[in-house]
Amino acid sequence: MNSLVLHLGSNLENPLKQILLAHWLIEEEIGKIQDYSLYYKTKAWGNEDQNDFINSAVRINTKLDPQEVLKKIQKIELEMGRMRLTKWGPRIIDLDIIFFNSLILNSSNLNIPHKLIQDRKFVLIPLMDIVPEFVHPILNKTTKELLASCKDTLEVIKL
Ligand code: ATP
Ligand code: CA
Ligand code: CA
Repeated sequence: MNSLVLHLGSNLENPLKQILLAHWLIEEEIGKIQDYSLYYKTKAWGNEDQNDFINSAVRINTKLDPQEVLKKIQKIELEMGRMRLTKWGPRIIDLDIIFFNSLILNSSNLNIPHKLIQDRKFVLIPLMDIVPEFVHPILNKTTKELLASCKDTLEVIKL
């Protein structure tokens, strides 16, 4: 069984409801959710002129391989009505692969660990709830250590 960490985000059409629906679809398509983070309200990162996001993270046991997981998350995003309009723009749901065991993978369509974990408090803070001591396989630092040195100043508030 593989241990997969996904990060979830939404800032359209009742974001918390979208996150909960995504949990259900993740269990249908990918595997049983073992750990849930709390839910956080965060200011949009990168492209700041849009609604606040709700973010969370989950740890899942899955038999799928990374490319199969990517296909599944893209299927869920499409089913939930995601449209790609602007980079880092508003979205009904965004599912990102954060970690897959301690695998390091850099292919044309998939980077694991996700490339921007260390730059984003809205990712690190939910990860603190589920994998605080997990060591990032490239940076060789725990989630806790990455958060301590993260320069992101955008607010992340527990719901
Ligand atoms: P960011 O990746 O900076 O959070 P985003 O989530 O808004 O940005 P998307 O438009 O959702 O970006 O995805 C763009 C592409 O990123 C996808 O088509 C996918 O192939 C690729 N990708 C690379 N690594 C990952 C990963 N770890 N998880 C999900 N998608 C990834
Ligand atoms: Ca993302
Ligand atoms: Ca994404």
